[in-house]
Amino acid sequence: MVAEQLIPHGVTDERVLRVMSEIPREEFLTGRARRHAYEDRALAIGCGQTISQPLVVALMTQSLNLEPESVALEVGTGSGYQAAILSRLCRRVITIEREPALAEQASAALKRLGFDNVEVAVADGSMGWPAEAPYAGILVACAARQVPPALIDQLAEGGRLVVPVQVISEEPQDLRLYTKIEGVVTYRSLFPVLFVPLRTG
Ligand code: SAH
Repeated sequence: MVAEQLIPHGVTDERVLRVMSEIPREEFLTGRARRHAYEDRALAIGCGQTISQPLVVALMTQSLNLEPESVALEVGTGSGYQAAILSRLCRRVITIEREPALAEQASAALKRLGFDNVEVAVADGSMGWPAEAPYAGILVACAARQVPPALIDQLAEGGRLVVPVQVISEEPQDLRLYTKIEGVVTYRSLFPVLFVPLRTG
């Protein structure tokens, strides 16, 4: 996976390559999906949701440029795999999932595998998680119509927010990287993606 999918397609951060070679992706999957764990595609994780293709996980993670002391926020825990990757690159990860069944499954997998610096919360992630804000890195794993203002507010100075934005239905989603520098928030588009929708409420 690392040699064939990640390195040839722009994943250059050695730390990201290392954690992705160490963390067993199959442990976050169940049933038949397990045997496809290292293939170059998204996979079903239940509740009509999917775990992203490894390359997208790697590129989104790399774009956050986390540091050992950073606290990161993820919206859309799903299987817990992305949260596990983030947790090995920073001090603490808060991850929010609105489907209680997925949150429970992800939380159990993370605990079983010893990812002790990840906290899974059941909530609407579009409100962020004010209790531990601000965050040096925020990763949104579902497509938003517009970037939730709460997430911009909870971004630390110098922080980075990566989020798929569905500007017009039917059009490809735009993966955007927002940065906050001296209080001013700007973004650049990374590449087109296909994520399940962010559902508010
Ligand atoms: N990062 C995950 C994949 C996420 S799939 C992984 O590594 O497996 C997107 C997830 O976002 C789904 O589980 C979906 O239930 C969740 N989601 C959608 N809208 C949400 C919201 N408003 N708040 C929190 N989670 C949400």
